[in-house]
Amino acid sequence: MRSWPQVYLPPPPKGLNHKPLSLFDSYSKTKKEISEENISSYVCGITPYDATHLGHAATYLSFDLIHRYLLACGKKLYFVENITDIDDPLLERAARDNQDWKELALSQIDLFRTDMTTLRVIPPSHYEGVVESMEIIIDSIQEYISADLTYKIEDDIYLQLDKVSGFPENLPFTFDAALNIFAERGGDPNRVGKINPLDPLLWRGYRRGEPSWEAPFGAGRPGWHVECVAIALAFLPKNSLSSITLQGGGSDLVFPHHYMTAIQSKALTRMEFAAHYVHAGMIGLDGEKMSKSKGNLIFVSKLLESGVRPEAIRIALFLDHYQSDRMWSGDLLIRAQNLLAKLDQALAMMEVAPTFPVISMIAEALADNLDTPKVLQLIELWCDETLSGSNGGSAGEMSRALDTYLGIAL
Ligand code: ZN
Repeated sequence: MRSWPQVYLPPPPKGLNHKPLSLFDSYSKTKKEISEENISSYVCGITPYDATHLGHAATYLSFDLIHRYLLACGKKLYFVENITDIDDPLLERAARDNQDWKELALSQIDLFRTDMTTLRVIPPSHYEGVVESMEIIIDSIQEYISADLTYKIEDDIYLQLDKVSGFPENLPFTFDAALNIFAERGGDPNRVGKINPLDPLLWRGYRRGEPSWEAPFGAGRPGWHVECVAIALAFLPKNSLSSITLQGGGSDLVFPHHYMTAIQSKALTRMEFAAHYVHAGMIGLDGEKMSKSKGNLIFVSKLLESGVRPEAIRIALFLDHYQSDRMWSGDLLIRAQNLLAKLDQALAMMEVAPTFPVISMIAEALADNLDTPKVLQLIELWCDETLSGSNGGSAGEMSRALDTYLGIAL
């Protein structure tokens, strides 16, 4: 799938010594430094039927900050993002609206690309749809079958987790809690015939009225997790200790999606899938969880249409920490717009407060698990100092750094 246009990144200030980026890992529950020089980053993409709401934006902006910081450190970034362009929710939405599922997906992918471009998100080098990757996904399922790791219920193929070393290590919940969450998020723990109730579906055999693809093991369509395993392993260069450096997405993917992706990948490669598993918190609205069923989703495109600047959306989503579940509100947007107005004013001054020390502190706060609340406090303080007459800095240097590290181009 076509990605979106590349984003120009100004070089970081000369002489700035970057600390290694340390990120909170969702499975080891510790902060871990990224030490690799070549970064393979896989961020799970959208199911194209409700793009791009603020929950999406918060996730992709968080990973954009990670990518920006790693690039500022001089690392080489390989970044892949997928699109789940065949999935139950997409088919259900298309049926509900009497629309062709392919057309719905394409229109939503287009909208997503436009939003990502406007928000200045660094594009993936491979932006891969599931449908266009069907051949590699089918090959990958064939590998599980050949390795005798699967079983069938009717025409559906499951991975037998008990045969995979590493299961159930790192299960982020008790087994019973995991069963409930698995059921809530597309799993089928109660299906008669399953060996382990958590066994993930690799291939769903053809059902009348559903799209399907021919495969040596029968027509059908792939399960959710195997798609990401196949795409990540096919398009990202391998690291030495784990298949990839970083797997990311929203925190609703910690289980089952990323847990299953990791274990399924390990079953094929016999090595750890990712060195770092990083997740962004969920965005709610005015005290409630933002969800399709409540109909309270806020869309990036609607905010932009109403005149909100993309930089204000970035700042609003950075005012709280990326890992925290947090609320979107009119007040939050006003706080962001006020800070943006102050920045505009400060950067337009003939003389500005010293910039190199504050940029160093901004980089240091980002290195500490993306402490954006602290970053924005530092920026506000710098604006206040500038507006009260402090001098000795360079507005150009600050403006470039805001773009390099935060994607705020003023
Ligand atoms: Zn995924």
